[in-house]
Amino acid sequence: METVKEYFGCNVFDDREMKANLPAKVYQSLKKTIDEGATLDVSVANIVAEAMKEWALKKGATHYTHWFQPLTGITAEKHDSFITPSPDGGVIMEFSGKELIKGEPDASSFPSGGIRATFEARGYTTWDPTSYAFIKGKTLCIPTAFCAYGGQALDKKTPLLRSMEALNKQALRILRLFGNDTAKRVTSSVGPEQEYFLVPKEMFDKRMDLRMTGRTLFGSKPPKGQEMDDHYFGIIKPRVQAYMEELNQELWKLGILAKTEHNEVAPSQHELAPIYTTTNVGTDHNQLTMEIMQKIAPKHGLVCLLHEKPFAGVNGSGKHNNWSIATDEGQNLLSPGATPYENAQFLLFLCAVIKAVDDYQDLLRLSVATAGNDHRLGANEAPPAVISMFLGDELQAVLDAIETDTPYAGIEKMQMKLGVSTLPIFNRDTTDRNRTSPFAFTGNKFEFRMLGSSNSIACANIMLNSAVAESLRIYADRLEGVDDFETKLHEMIKKTIKDHKRIIFNGNGYDDKWIEEATTVRGLSNYKTTADAMPHLLDEKNVKMLTSHKVFTLEEMQSRTEIMLENYCKSVNIEANTMVQMAKTQVIPAIEKYAQDIAQGALTKKQLNSSIACGYESKLVSRLSELSDIAYVKTGELEEAIESLSKAADVIEESAMIRDSVLAKMSELRAACDEAETLTAKSYWPFPTYSDLLFGV
Ligand code: ADP
Ligand code: MG
Repeated sequence: METVKEYFGCNVFDDREMKANLPAKVYQSLKKTIDEGATLDVSVANIVAEAMKEWALKKGATHYTHWFQPLTGITAEKHDSFITPSPDGGVIMEFSGKELIKGEPDASSFPSGGIRATFEARGYTTWDPTSYAFIKGKTLCIPTAFCAYGGQALDKKTPLLRSMEALNKQALRILRLFGNDTAKRVTSSVGPEQEYFLVPKEMFDKRMDLRMTGRTLFGSKPPKGQEMDDHYFGIIKPRVQAYMEELNQELWKLGILAKTEHNEVAPSQHELAPIYTTTNVGTDHNQLTMEIMQKIAPKHGLVCLLHEKPFAGVNGSGKHNNWSIATDEGQNLLSPGATPYENAQFLLFLCAVIKAVDDYQDLLRLSVATAGNDHRLGANEAPPAVISMFLGDELQAVLDAIETDTPYAGIEKMQMKLGVSTLPIFNRDTTDRNRTSPFAFTGNKFEFRMLGSSNSIACANIMLNSAVAESLRIYADRLEGVDDFETKLHEMIKKTIKDHKRIIFNGNGYDDKWIEEATTVRGLSNYKTTADAMPHLLDEKNVKMLTSHKVFTLEEMQSRTEIMLENYCKSVNIEANTMVQMAKTQVIPAIEKYAQDIAQGALTKKQLNSSIACGYESKLVSRLSELSDIAYVKTGELEEAIESLSKAADVIEESAMIRDSVLAKMSELRAACDEAETLTAKSYWPFPTYSDLLFGV
């Protein structure tokens, strides 16, 4: 068998393949597009397409597809074969530059939030040369952006690329002010840590809720949960190990830098983290990772659950978005530098992030808002719905010193004078103690921890890139052309610290007292659900910021708000309908059957000997009957709540009704059924229990 080094990236038309298969001039032109964002020369496309096709055919590919990320949150592809008929009755394999650059999928069935009326079915996809083409199965996949015919973005990649461009532009302005004339490009990077559950496939198949919604809608607590802390970093079971090995191999073949794997806190929960890369490629890779995770599991008799909260009572799954910005020369702008001047630059970029997170808390919050993630945020296992930042003691001391003009008591006692003083290198061991913060500085990057496990990371990075671009724009506007750069710089950093320190919190983010302080004393926003958060996308300040950086148009923002709320409503609706069906056709009949059998047993005993009291049977049957009654009533109420949704005037109202009535009825129904489960013999229960699922692998 080949070694990893030999097969890594073998299914990717990467730089090595481009260099080997393209004429030098074409290669350079393409490289300029990839590295510097230069517009692609059209004549180049034909040659690239031909080389790409030849390479793909050698790898056994028969089809190509424009691979894109519509607003469904998953990826889409429509395959076309390379065949073209030849006059002799046979076929030749063709692929033109035009086909590489542009596709026209029928877009009418993808969510558009009203942008594209269905009679205008056409949308188009355009090649994103900054993310390498790859082969999946027998298909050459070309990463593309997806737009409506009028040019409005219908996907997640387009605004992500725009946000990277905005950040690049503003960050370069700042670098020039610090005398850096050589950097050509500033790029944001991401390393997303992906959590997931693995459950036995034969048990998954028996649960309608898992099959339909990805999470359990019923299930009483197992006798053992995660209280022993024996799963985190525990020994990986052979079946899981085999799964991880195959997963790594498949990811490596696709050039995905899968690096770390370990067991997570909850039983049967695991994590995979790649080495970071640009936010654009990182997003594509994360989508592919999630897809392959799910595809490989059945080969091992497993199902991979990416839902944020598959099980009540044990931790759900998130995704930590490790984010930083760096120049094409390899300078990480969130890393304290070696010279005082570099440190001043670092502090300015740090302040840009602090200001961005404070000014656009709402955007960050809503970028991770989904029906699934609502179960995690604020549930004492994940960061709260309130956004705050953790900087750590060392960096906090530096900021305090600047704010108050007092000596910094760090390494040497000295006045913090920007451009003169040296900062310590903050190593992550001293900065990363806080695991409860939604947004933590970890030495040379920030870790945004609120993302849900099934989320595309695109949305969070769009908001992060844009908000930081906006801080940098404001700084650059103020600093360009001033005579006393250092004084102005110092003043501005000081002002940012004063104005935005409310967002910094180095304590325990899971503490209720913090939420109280955050909302009442500090005035931070606390949008607990998707229904609360999402409408704020259209707040005036947010529209102004995102449109001014050309990340979104107003129309695109309106359509996204609608689509995200629609997704929320649809997800909960499917859950509610699944619950109704399971309650009526599985749970209630099971309770009834068991109650009747117990009652029948009691009767038989009485016939045998009328003096037998049958106290146990009588009590049990009474409670079970009560519970099946409650379950029946609650099912009816839930059905009514679902029906009344049709009265909602718009999707904002519908989402509020879901939050206030449907979800509440769902928990009431669940409570009755879960209690009945604890009283019913296991052989009568119609589907696998939490113990089976969580400890079955
Ligand atoms: P953990 O947070 O679990 O302790 P690490 O800090 O080792 O894990 O890494 C988490 C992720 O952060 C990895 O995907 C890693 O590649 C990524 N990472 C490291 N440095 C950077 C950076 N400068 N920019 C973005 N991501 C980074
Ligand atoms: Mg982490």
